[in-house]
Amino acid sequence: MIPVPGFEGRRIAVFGLGRSGLTAARALKAGGALPVLWDDSVSSRLQAEAEGFAVEDLTVADWSGFAALVLSPGAPLTHPEPHWTVGKAKAAGVEVIGDIELFARAIAALPEAERPRVVAITGTNGKSTTTALLGWVLKQAGLTVHVGGNIGIGVLALPAPTPGAVYVIEVSSYQLDLTTSFAPDVAILTNVSPDHLERHGDMEGYVAAKARIFRAQGADGLALVGVDERWGQGIARDLAENGRRVTTVSTLPSPLGGEGVSRSETDEGFAGHAQAGAGEAAQAPSSEPLRGPPSPPRGEGILAADGALTIAGQPTIDLSRARSLPGRHNAQNAAFAWAAARVLGVSHAAAVEGLVTFPGLAHRMEHVATLGRVRFINDSKATNADAARQALASYERSFWIAGGRAKAGGIDDLEDLFPRVVEAFLIGEAAGPFAARLGETPHRISSDMAGAVRAAAEAAAATGRDEVVLLSPAAASFDQYPDFEARGEAFRAAVLALGAVPASAA
Ligand code: ADP
Repeated sequence: MIPVPGFEGRRIAVFGLGRSGLTAARALKAGGALPVLWDDSVSSRLQAEAEGFAVEDLTVADWSGFAALVLSPGAPLTHPEPHWTVGKAKAAGVEVIGDIELFARAIAALPEAERPRVVAITGTNGKSTTTALLGWVLKQAGLTVHVGGNIGIGVLALPAPTPGAVYVIEVSSYQLDLTTSFAPDVAILTNVSPDHLERHGDMEGYVAAKARIFRAQGADGLALVGVDERWGQGIARDLAENGRRVTTVSTLPSPLGGEGVSRSETDEGFAGHAQAGAGEAAQAPSSEPLRGPPSPPRGEGILAADGALTIAGQPTIDLSRARSLPGRHNAQNAAFAWAAARVLGVSHAAAVEGLVTFPGLAHRMEHVATLGRVRFINDSKATNADAARQALASYERSFWIAGGRAKAGGIDDLEDLFPRVVEAFLIGEAAGPFAARLGETPHRISSDMAGAVRAAAEAAAATGRDEVVLLSPAAASFDQYPDFEARGEAFRAAVLALGAVPASAA
């Protein structure tokens, strides 16, 4: 656990007693604060009491005595409307923060020589893959690494800081909204596409939350920004204009400008000194990128293609041996991990070796099993169309299992990929709307996951060719499962029930 200093002897309201709330309370207590806990759920309150915490009804508490409100990222800060605790905190002039901010303060309180380094990763898609991949690369290179945050272990439950350690932290937009001084040494924004708008009001609010990952970074901090879309481009340009160290990652050749990757960076010299934003594109007013056409920063950056990374001054990195990183989107994730590892002092060779040996994450384009000539791929984590796009684009032909609770826009944006779908098998609430959208593309509505898997497996086997059955739902899981992990496990179980050979045994 990471004790949080700075609030010794002071009362702090902690609302929301899920995993991160209870961990925050423990970390505050360990640092000498007096946390006061509350949750709407009686059982959560009882659990907190059983652990010896002070539980007080925050609806009637005296808020003037609180040094801060530590809010669960699950409770809305602004939209659709501020949680009632936020109203009370604001009225009493009490700051509203979250667990990432507490972590930031715990790190900042250490003498400089003892401070570990921190890499933070956010973005609409690719956060977990990039986080796990970077953690793996750093560990393989022999560093002391702690991986957590929005993935796996909550940030304050990670081991206490030691000099030389590196924290690799995944952060969601909700968590970033609750930060004020979080200043990671390396901050990564993988990409931005519309998601979670109900909690951020609109796209501008969502992008602003994501951009907070860079806000408090010092001059030495490095920003790694995906610039495939105009939001990332705008953020990269703004940072570069403000003299910040920026390295861009693009999967599209053109945004890097006619010259492609430019300015020679030597192997040793890469260490994050790339400055993006030179050239006319950098002159655009800062508010323009949210509305205007793409005009990204030119110059230094990493070009991530399917199977290869091109970096100025480096031999091309061949990713074809990286079996767990198929597709252009994973090349983007690899580019972030490579650049972050290099800045943290890992050699080029060791960083590349780490990319190649990465075992991959469950539920993200995970090769589950094979039956005859049919491969079964679990991409349950694809809870939106943009994520499913990456999976569909990775296969020339697929028997596609999709559906669940649809996001705004459904699968409208995937139309250009429909020709790659040999047949779709639709499940969940979205089955009807997705069927309507698929139109002429062969599809059928399946009763449930097991039915979809069976039907897809039969149809795929009947072609007599090498085929792929792909679960990439393009929708949330909550209509049928507690979370995407449970959905992915249901897929795995259904596949194995057919007698398929697990990939791990192959
Ligand atoms: P997150 O943690 O941001 O949700 P994950 O790494 O868990 O991201 O991947 C979620 C989904 O997005 C998976 O279906 C995966 O195939 C897809 N994906 C992974 N990386 C990227 C990327 N860089 N761009 C777009 N989609 C991606």
